[in-house]
Amino acid sequence: MNNLTIDFSKLNGLVPCIIQDATTQRVLMLGFMNEEAYNKTIQEKKVVFFSRSKQRLWMKGETSGNVFDLVDIVSDCDNDTLLVKVHPRGPACHTGADTCFNEINEQWNIDALEKVIHDRKVNPSKSSYTTSLFESGLNKIAQKVGEEAVELIIEAKDNNKELFLNEAADLMFHYLVLLQEKGYTFDDVLSVLKKRHKK
Ligand code: AMP
Ligand code: ZN
Ligand code: ZN
Ligand code: ZN
Repeated sequence: MNNLTIDFSKLNGLVPCIIQDATTQRVLMLGFMNEEAYNKTIQEKKVVFFSRSKQRLWMKGETSGNVFDLVDIVSDCDNDTLLVKVHPRGPACHTGADTCFNEINEQWNIDALEKVIHDRKVNPSKSSYTTSLFESGLNKIAQKVGEEAVELIIEAKDNNKELFLNEAADLMFHYLVLLQEKGYTFDDVLSVLKKRHKK
């Protein structure tokens, strides 16, 4: 969090703050900070807003205990909006939902899929194919990745969209299971790719 220059001159001194979970990257809520709220946030290492309804400083979690522990703050291109990365101690929304943007809960992405795969590993379920894969062991999982890759190659030569996408999904799924079995995450792979990326 290198010293930010923030433009508090717009919106009656309020700066919109997008609150993002530093671990899952999910957008949790939007709040506003004035300069005092920002300074308090830095000082306390917990997110403090200026509440437009309460018309006072509001430390998120002050009554619920679900505070946002501050991880990082970055400002946008013209310094009038902040992206605040946090570790939430509980649900961000007063309704009890993890995030105020509920559709985000429904969003299906690699992260969500990895969580399900991890859950099938630590909470084995008899009816789960993923659980059975973990039970069959590393060699079997690695072999499945090879098989799915070959199936994808075969479909790549054809022009059947549905079959191609299905094999692409099979490969991705088994690849994620293999990463999980080896104790890595997709994020670890992304870090390698990020290092390779020349700016
Ligand atoms: P808290 O700051 O979590 O202790 O909640 C105190 C009060 O702030 C709640 O009763 C709500 O009125 C309001 N509140 C809490 N979280 C949110 C939120 N994510 N968005 C809007 N209002 C909230
Ligand atoms: Zn801006
Ligand atoms: Zn909410
Ligand atoms: Zn397949």
